[in-house]
Amino acid sequence: MMVEQINAKGQLRHLLTLAELERSHIETIIDRATGYLTPAGHPPPHDTILRGQTVANLFFEASTRTRASFELAAKRLSADVLNLDVNTSSRAKGESIVDTIYTLQAMQVDMFVVRDASTGVPANIARRVDSHVSVLNAGESDVSHPTQGLLDLMTILQHRPDVDQLCVAIIGDVKHSRVARSAYQALTKFDVGDLRLIGPAELLPQEGFDGARLFTEIDEGIEGADVVMALRIQRERFTELGAIPDSQEYYRRYGLTEKRLRVAKPDAIVMHPGPMNRGVEIDGEVADGPRSLIERQVTNGMAIRMAVLALAHEHVRDCHGSTR
Ligand code: ASP
Repeated sequence: MMVEQINAKGQLRHLLTLAELERSHIETIIDRATGYLTPAGHPPPHDTILRGQTVANLFFEASTRTRASFELAAKRLSADVLNLDVNTSSRAKGESIVDTIYTLQAMQVDMFVVRDASTGVPANIARRVDSHVSVLNAGESDVSHPTQGLLDLMTILQHRPDVDQLCVAIIGDVKHSRVARSAYQALTKFDVGDLRLIGPAELLPQEGFDGARLFTEIDEGIEGADVVMALRIQRERFTELGAIPDSQEYYRRYGLTEKRLRVAKPDAIVMHPGPMNRGVEIDGEVADGPRSLIERQVTNGMAIRMAVLALAHEHVRDCHGSTR
């Protein structure tokens, strides 16, 4: 059974996947996020909108940027924030994630931010929580990472709003990447002009990217690109260790270097979702260079997470009005 992400009033209730959101919903989130950006040198935005509400961050898989930014976003909106320590939580003692959720729900948690290595976990939780509660997907297996897709689209739109004219090249382990899947879902809603996926054949996806063009030669794939996104090899998702490409050989064939970037458009931007492996999928010179928007992606990610929490709060608030 599909979970409705938008409630009967048209408000964002859950954020599980971008695949089933309308373009207008994506625009609403990005507009809201834009309002949470502050000029360089100014203090970060603060709002009291989530005062009295409780956000629980449940990260059952490693995370730096997403976890830190969801936590800061909730705090900057004045929520009570719980960061469950997965190593000492009862899940380590065999409790099912659903029982953990029911326990926290009994403590009146209003929003769950969930990352898990298994497919379907955020939707499964969303099906079971009380009607006022929201579930936000913070990374699901290799399937979905909606806030990453939104922050990537926001970063691209800031560079060039005419997405339908753009050539976007994604290089690396696309096959195992939830980042690439969510970027694809966001970009296709905006009718991306030309989407290219580049990497060794064994790291290119066999399905799920209709309309994208596949390249095994990096120079051919990034020629004329407006946006070049490098991805990490997702070693944790390989079932056979022998299938993991050797890092030096990978860098030689697919590492994003200044020299390789010369065939992209002169004003092409470089993106990477992090964590980066310098000297493997991207050269330090490119990561720190003038085309790099990698830090901007992080700043936009904060704003996107504030926007998603603020919008989902409207659902929680209206339900509280009628039930508490
Ligand atoms: N941070 C991103 C993710 O959670 C990308 C990565 O891990 O390589 O999917």
